[in-house]
Formats: sequence, C-alpha cells, structure tokens
Amino acid sequence: MNRQAVDELKRQVPLLEYLQAHHWRSARPLSHGRWMGLCPLHTDHTPSFLVDPHKNLFYCYGCGSGGDVIRFAELYHRVTFPQALALLCQWRGLAPLLQEAADFYHLQLHRHGKAVAYLQQRGVHSAELIERMRIGYAPGACLRGWLTQLGYPLAALRQAGLVTAAGYDTFTHRIVFPLEGNLYGRSLLASVLPHRFLPGAKGGLYGWEQARRYPDVILVEGLFDYAVLWQAGFRNVTCAMGTHLNAHQFRQLCDGPRTIYLTLDGDTNGSGQQAAQELACRLREQGLNARRVWLPEGHDPNSFFVQKGDARQFQSLLEAARP
Ligand SMILES: [Zn+2]
Repeated sequence: MNRQAVDELKRQVPLLEYLQAHHWRSARPLSHGRWMGLCPLHTDHTPSFLVDPHKNLFYCYGCGSGGDVIRFAELYHRVTFPQALALLCQWRGLAPLLQEAADFYHLQLHRHGKAVAYLQQRGVHSAELIERMRIGYAPGACLRGWLTQLGYPLAALRQAGLVTAAGYDTFTHRIVFPLEGNLYGRSLLASVLPHRFLPGAKGGLYGWEQARRYPDVILVEGLFDYAVLWQAGFRNVTCAMGTHLNAHQFRQLCDGPRTIYLTLDGDTNGSGQQAAQELACRLREQGLNARRVWLPEGHDPNSFFVQKGDARQFQSLLEAARP
C-alpha cells in the first residue's frame, strides 16, 4: 500500500469513530474539541488517554503510547503495521456488508421451521431475545444471489468470507449470530464442524456494554449459554465465544473492579475447568475477584437450563462458587 492509499485509509477511518466502535468512551471534554478517557491500551484507573479528533491522533499519559489510528490498531490488536492496515481496510469495507448479511439471515429464521425447532431444542424461545441478539439462519445457496443483486461485487463477498473461493455460501444450515465485525454460525448438522466464524478476529466479549455495568459478571463460553441465562433474567452475563479469551477480551474484563463468575463447561475431560483455573489466576493478578462456578457433571449453562434448571437453582450455583 503506497503513502497516498495509507492517507486515504486514515481519512476513511476516523480515529474517534474507530475508538468508539471498540467501546471507548470519553470521560470528559478538553479544550479545542479534544477528549480524555480511560486508556484502552493499559489497565487505566484514571482517564489518561487523550484523543484529538481534528488531528486524528491519540496520546496516553499513563503508558506513553501515542500516534494515529494505524498505530492504535497495531497496539490494540497486537499486530504488525501491515496487519493493522489489513484490519482497518477490512473494518472500513466490511461493516455494511456484514450488516446486510446479518439482516438477510435474520429474515430467513422464521421461514425455516427446522431453524426455529433447533432454537427451541437449545432452550431459546423468547422472541424479544431473538430480536435483541438478531439471531438468524443461513439456509445456504441464497446469500450470494441476494447480495450480488443488491450490487455487492462477488470479490467483496469472497474477501469478507461470506462466499467460498468456489463461489458457494460459506454458512449453510447454520444458526447465525452477528458479532462485532464478524458472524458466528452454529451448524444444525452433526456431520460438519459445529462452530464457525468468518475469517478475522472473533471480536470483544459478547454483550459487554450491558454486563460491564454490574459489579458481578457471569462469563460463559457459548452464545447459547448467554441466551438461556439472559432469558432466565440474568443481565450481568457476557460470552467469550470459546474457552480462551483474546487479549482484547481479557482487557475488557479488567477494565474496572468486579467479581467474575467463570462458568465454563463442566466437560468430562476437565479442559473447561483447567481453562477456568488459569483464567482465574490471571484475573486475580489484575486485582479482580474471580470465582469458579461448578455445574453438574457434563453440563454447560445451556444444557442446565434446557434440562429444567431454573434461575433460582443457577443463583445457588453462583452462591456456591469457589475462588
Ligand atoms: Zn495507556
């Protein structure tokens, strides 16, 4: 990418907009239209991160980092300069396309009885929740046609990973959840890999903006765990979409003092509990209170609620959580 293209990219991705899309919030305004807030690059307790939207520059008085949106992307995602450029290009180009795909999949959900039946079987039945999470269904062999008809070039669909190199819809027979900058698809078929993301990062913690307001946060592995807990009335729940947190997700959990209830799957080989133990140690090193929730053998929060567990019973599991 030449100098001119780099300048163009920086113009198209304003720093403040990029920060806000990554959940940065200013704490107070300064003179000349500048803003001050908590630093997303280190564990910051007093606002030390200065943003100048006119110059498109940032500087942190806490950790000393500073620069433009590309430098920010490098530090934030812990990637090289060329990788940061690629991420920003993707972010710039992908947002409307993914939105369009998510909207299409959401419309498909109620047209496919087996998709609704699958949600029922996984204990997801609240219409409000389905709307809120914008849960959709990818039947396969129709997204490409729809998006090209809307004017999106096939190359863009391929680049976003929505369509395979061979030209087929990537997601087929999958329940789809829109994430921040990605889509997650859960297969209805037992014959293929159950979990699939589009290429690129899985993004931050799911539902973090809501959960972070609470002093106690329940961390789960899967979106179906998140869904049943939300349905049972728990609003202080967030999802890592896997056992291992990326650096960004870990920083999110540590962005304030709180208790984290680690509710990873109680699988029989113990890998979930091992991951929970390691994570609990890392959280304690950051001064957080971490507690491990013990589910009945072989259960995850989803199966716990599907098999008639209720909010009161889950609450007593939280109360019994051990450090
Ligand atoms: Zn900093």
